Amino acid sequence: MAKKIRQIAIYGKGGIGKSTTTQNLTAGLLELGKKVLVVGCDPKADSTRLLLGGLHQKTVLDTIRDNKTEIKLEDLDYVFYDVLGDVVCGGFAMPIREGKAQEIYIVASGEMMALYAANNICKGIARYAERGDVRLGGIICNSRNVDRELDLLRAFTKELNTQLIYFVPRNNIVQQAEIRKKTVIEYAPDSTQAKVYRELAQAIDENTKFTIPTPITQERLEEILIENGMMDLPDNYSI
Ligand code: ADP
Ligand code: MG
Repeated sequence: MAKKIRQIAIYGKGGIGKSTTTQNLTAGLLELGKKVLVVGCDPKADSTRLLLGGLHQKTVLDTIRDNKTEIKLEDLDYVFYDVLGDVVCGGFAMPIREGKAQEIYIVASGEMMALYAANNICKGIARYAERGDVRLGGIICNSRNVDRELDLLRAFTKELNTQLIYFVPRNNIVQQAEIRKKTVIEYAPDSTQAKVYRELAQAIDENTKFTIPTPITQERLEEILIENGMMDLPDNYSI
């Protein structure tokens, strides 16, 4: 029997770290012996830059035109769709339409706009989940060093009936690798950040918790932010 390919869409606010995280965790999956295809769905066309060392990339459509055949996805374990922006960008349905990606991860941080986008994406997922098999596998926190970010993300994911699948610390080694067109695992295999991406890959590989998210109101989101980090100023504050 053919093995089941896990087709995964990665969503999140623009600039949150979707392409970076997808490629670094792909490097972790490759170390586990998995076969992975990364499909970029963003006009920035940087979804495979770190994996291919910045090589000029033919698009899937170019390849089809050149070969005049269909591309066969043989013997893959994973397909990742690195999707642009958030729900408002119309592309939202694309990878999860017609039974493509059925598994979704959202990249977010403790910043309000990242959580706002994550909540909106959950509204879209919940709508699609009613009619099909689309499920949310969890939220990946790509840290922005917000105060009490872990508490905040834990509270947020609990409220939305999902899980914090992994907390990726912010680390300049990510940019040092990026400027050299490399994943962190390739550039600095013994670094703590390489370990982070290996563990993220493992967590996704072993994940069995797939849910229909329960998005919240803007008011509730603001309350969670205040309860978990955005504390009032102390009486004696100074700036
Ligand atoms: P997106 O694909 O969501 O638009 P990118 O993956 O392009 O976002 O990330 C934006 C920038 O953030 C990248 O240029 C990268 O250098 C930086 N970045 C992402 N994750 C981290 C991290 N964990 N630590 C430090 N820098 C990061
Ligand atoms: Mg991107």
